[in-house]
Amino acid sequence: RLRLAHSAVFTGERLVRDVIVITDLTREHRVERLKSDFIATVSHELRTPLTPIIGYLDLLRTRGARMAPEKRAQALELVADRARHMSRLVEDLLLASRVGDGQDEPALRVDLGTHDLVTLVHQVAEDMGGAEGRVVTHLPGEPVEVRCDAGRTIQVIGNLVGNALKYSPSTERVDVRLGVRDARAWVEVIDRGRGIPADQLTKVFEKFHRVEDPMTMSTGGTGLGLFIARRLAHAMGGDISLISALGTGTTFTLTLPLAHAQVP
Ligand code: ADP
Repeated sequence: RLRLAHSAVFTGERLVRDVIVITDLTREHRVERLKSDFIATVSHELRTPLTPIIGYLDLLRTRGARMAPEKRAQALELVADRARHMSRLVEDLLLASRVGDGQDEPALRVDLGTHDLVTLVHQVAEDMGGAEGRVVTHLPGEPVEVRCDAGRTIQVIGNLVGNALKYSPSTERVDVRLGVRDARAWVEVIDRGRGIPADQLTKVFEKFHRVEDPMTMSTGGTGLGLFIARRLAHAMGGDISLISALGTGTTFTLTLPLAHAQVP
């Protein structure tokens, strides 16, 4: 969209200056749209876990004393789980507000140490217990020591596995492989979902970007996960890449530097 402004300056009858200003408003409109999309998405994402939290707290308040202990424990666990989900979401929003899209932005703070990547991947698969056998790991028998922030690495791999589960049919499994190549360890997360269109392959890492297809729109999400995951990978000296084929599936690869390769 363009805005046109015209001004003419006369001295008596004589036109001395004629100015036309053309302003390109495309960016401003895009920013406005992003802002309102963002508010709608975040409100929706926060409201989703809030509904069961309020519902179950009401139930516990009014009938908790008469409930069977195991039912009460289940309700409390559900409330705690949804509250943790909200806390992660708010954490993501705060992280995203601190880092922009630019490559020259300061990296996210990470606490680097030496950790066994096999153990970390194993932990992610275990945390995803609810995925009932859909996550299949193919891990080496011996440790693969990398230089990373253990908690952040679990977050990144958890995000990739979570997406693989979310964006593929619940009947399809997700494979997680781990290996070593050129002083780097790699973790591949392979799904058999609907894939990502070629023109969206780099866009999925942008802040708030979500592919506009029915599969994405029918699942919850903020479009922040991959943005944060890639920034975290960079901050640890690693990277995330992907290959995808529409209708076949997607493979995301996280690479991290091997611990011994860091020592001069
Ligand atoms: P969110 O999942 O919260 O929308 P992400 O940043 O994790 O945000 O992902 C951005 C978008 O990339 C998603 O909305 C989805 O459209 C697409 N995407 C991510 N992972 C996959 C995948 N494994 N298969 C298909 N599409 C994916």
